[in-house]
Amino acid sequence: MKVLVINCGSSSLKYQLFDMENEQVMVKGLVERIGIPGSVLTHRPGNEKHVFETQIPDHKKAITLVLEAIIHPEYGVLQSMSEITAIGHRVVHGSEDYAFSVLLTDDVMEVIKKNIELAPLHNPPNIMGIEACQYLMPTVPQVCVFDTAFHQTMPPKAYLYGIPYEYYEKYKIRKYGFHGTSHQYVSQRAAALLGQPRNELKIITCHLGNGSSISAVKGGQCIDTTMGFTPLEGLMMGTRSGDLDPTVVTFLMEKEGWSCAEANNFLNKQCGVLGLSGVSSDFRDLESAAQEGNQRAQLALDRFAYGVKKFIGAYTAVLNGVDALVFTAGLGENSASMRGEICQGLDYLGIEIDAEKNKVRGQEAFISTVASKTKVLVIPTNEELMIARDTYEIVNREK
Ligand code: ADP
Repeated sequence: MKVLVINCGSSSLKYQLFDMENEQVMVKGLVERIGIPGSVLTHRPGNEKHVFETQIPDHKKAITLVLEAIIHPEYGVLQSMSEITAIGHRVVHGSEDYAFSVLLTDDVMEVIKKNIELAPLHNPPNIMGIEACQYLMPTVPQVCVFDTAFHQTMPPKAYLYGIPYEYYEKYKIRKYGFHGTSHQYVSQRAAALLGQPRNELKIITCHLGNGSSISAVKGGQCIDTTMGFTPLEGLMMGTRSGDLDPTVVTFLMEKEGWSCAEANNFLNKQCGVLGLSGVSSDFRDLESAAQEGNQRAQLALDRFAYGVKKFIGAYTAVLNGVDALVFTAGLGENSASMRGEICQGLDYLGIEIDAEKNKVRGQEAFISTVASKTKVLVIPTNEELMIARDTYEIVNREK
């Protein structure tokens, strides 16, 4: 069975085709600059790379080109489109409607559309991808995998804010959490690597990339996470502020004469390590600048690590101990210095890193000392595989 996984952004589309017999990626690729001059498709079967620059005005055209590339006699991997058994879509917001992945139906589409209100930047491009696939492959079953679903197990005391309850009822204002597919994948992998059943484990998963979030996972279920109503809450990120006193926003709006849209743009695009350092939102740039003596770059790195450390402490408390701490995503998988800084001084919690083992980059590894009570792991995330697995399972169940 072949499963095509699609992840649509507003101007980009990532795809991976899986052979579910062995869970191998047959081909993957990326369409960039959809609807913008300079559109490009990068198609990667195996170690090859084929780049096509052509006009791609919308997602329908993007998916048409992807399908053509997949069945192309020279650089394709399938004889015909009919070999694709199912399509799995990443959908950002499933709200309280979906705690699991679901087979796409008209009703499901209605709910995803209703939830545009909660994810105005993310759900619309996800919908465009789904509709393009419906148009081009009307008989192929499609599955929606939600970023928010894994966090639906949080109890009300974790997801409610300290605002009048009526706004939860009226507008569904609450913590939803994001990166759920990643937190779920790495917590499952951690249990497998530890050789222990998931339902006996307390795990803290740190997804540290451009966007960053941490989850507390007890017995395989998320009980708290740092991102909230939107992906702005929690850790300071590349360009997002993370937690701050809400009055900072109203104060700045008044002082600077900002509209709501301007304040939103500020919080999402101009803050985080970019705003604090004045150097870059990219952690590699910050690490080089700090090494060259840039103090604000160092300050941004210190502040970021401090934020992660605080949540590890908080989540150890809510879990009543922690068996495993997992680092994933661009920064978490690759930056030994950031992991080292975060875990520095956590020996009271039983977390101790082995400097030599911590040198690992981008591969699964235990990086804690033998004596460390809590195991510390690096696990590259694989949201696409998780989406392919859910799709495979749901489509087989429905047969
Ligand atoms: P996204 O949230 O866009 O998926 P990623 O998970 O790809 O982000 O993470 C991107 C971040 O990871 C960037 O800030 C990048 O600098 C950082 N990163 C990647 N490799 C390294 C590295 N070797 N050292 C430090 N940071 C790294």
